[in-house]
Amino acid sequence: MEINEIKTLLAINKIDNLDIFFDYEIRNLSTFRLSGKCPIFIIANSEDALISLLSFLESSGTGYYFIGRGSNTLIGDCGKTVIIKLGKKFDYIEFNDGGHITAGASCNLGKFIIKCAKNKYDFSFLAGIPGTVGGAASGNCGNQTESLCDYVESIECLRISKNKILKEKIKLFKYGYRFLKIDNLAVITRIFLKKDETERELIYNNIRENILKKKASQPLGSFNCGCFFKNPLNSKKTAGELIDSLGLKGFSYGGAAISIKHANFIENYGEATSEDIYNLSKIIAGLVNERFRIKLEYEVKIVGLEN
Ligand SMILES: Cc1cc2nc3c(=O)[nH]c(=O)nc-3n(C[C@H](O)[C@H](O)[C@H](O)COP(=O)(O)OP(=O)(O)OC[C@H]3O[C@@H](n4cnc5c(N)ncnc54)[C@H](O)[C@@H]3O)c2cc1C
Repeated sequence: MEINEIKTLLAINKIDNLDIFFDYEIRNLSTFRLSGKCPIFIIANSEDALISLLSFLESSGTGYYFIGRGSNTLIGDCGKTVIIKLGKKFDYIEFNDGGHITAGASCNLGKFIIKCAKNKYDFSFLAGIPGTVGGAASGNCGNQTESLCDYVESIECLRISKNKILKEKIKLFKYGYRFLKIDNLAVITRIFLKKDETERELIYNNIRENILKKKASQPLGSFNCGCFFKNPLNSKKTAGELIDSLGLKGFSYGGAAISIKHANFIENYGEATSEDIYNLSKIIAGLVNERFRIKLEYEVKIVGLEN
């Protein structure tokens, strides 16, 4: 089906609680702040709306991509891919007895950390990381020693099976360094966590300390999507150290450059296109492979660019 047909069908088959935007600026969808447009961007404001939308997209064979804050996503030419975001209905956090926490997938990660701290739960290892709870769970966000999924007991999600949309609560799932694996996952709608209580002041101190550490070592104020590559498991050096050892800090391609502060960050320092970022990433990966025989894997998720 052509993109204009999909647009027309979406406009005709009005599904309640969906905000639909045509030719939407992608600079508003990712922290890379790149220029360009995606043909269809939809905010789903209820679970029923989400299920109806997914049923329509699945039955019409239309591709889709869920985005949270876009702090780990490089968006290129979306073509016929519909970009979907969960709206305010999925933005909540609840605290129950026994250290049980429930968070909606569109809850802002910073808000999540602070609300947890107020309730004596320490998620300070996530401090300074932009994103949503759904995005963070999907990539098992964290630091070198802790990650979000370490504390996730179950995940409520929509899965696709034989073109049917199933709402499920998954207790057994695989996760590891920057990944979560749930077969046929369409979207995470909320997560259930368990954490022991800690002293509040201690958590606030940890948050402050972690933000200061991040500010000192990462370009938090520029347009980027965090670490571009995963740290290779077959090397003692991190991806950043490998790239830095090639003297690549500051190296630029079009409007994209390798951060002076952290060699694993690619920045849009001006009018970078998604292709500039993508091509620069290919150059980096090529040089690292040539020099060290190590194949860097993307940590950033890439939509609409060949990879
Ligand atoms: C300055 C900076 C520092 C960072 N530091 C860190 C760090 O220390 N550690 C770290 O782990 N990350 C870091 N990141 C990366 C990023 O912030 C995290 O990965 C974050 O959790 C991504 O959340 P998001 O909502 O922005 O995800 P998005 O970029 O929107 O999406 C990321 C992935 O999650 C999927 N996704 C999003 N929402 C859902 C959903 N509801 N259901 C299913 N899938 C979904 C997307 O399809 C995509 O595959 C950093 C980024 C920046 C810009």
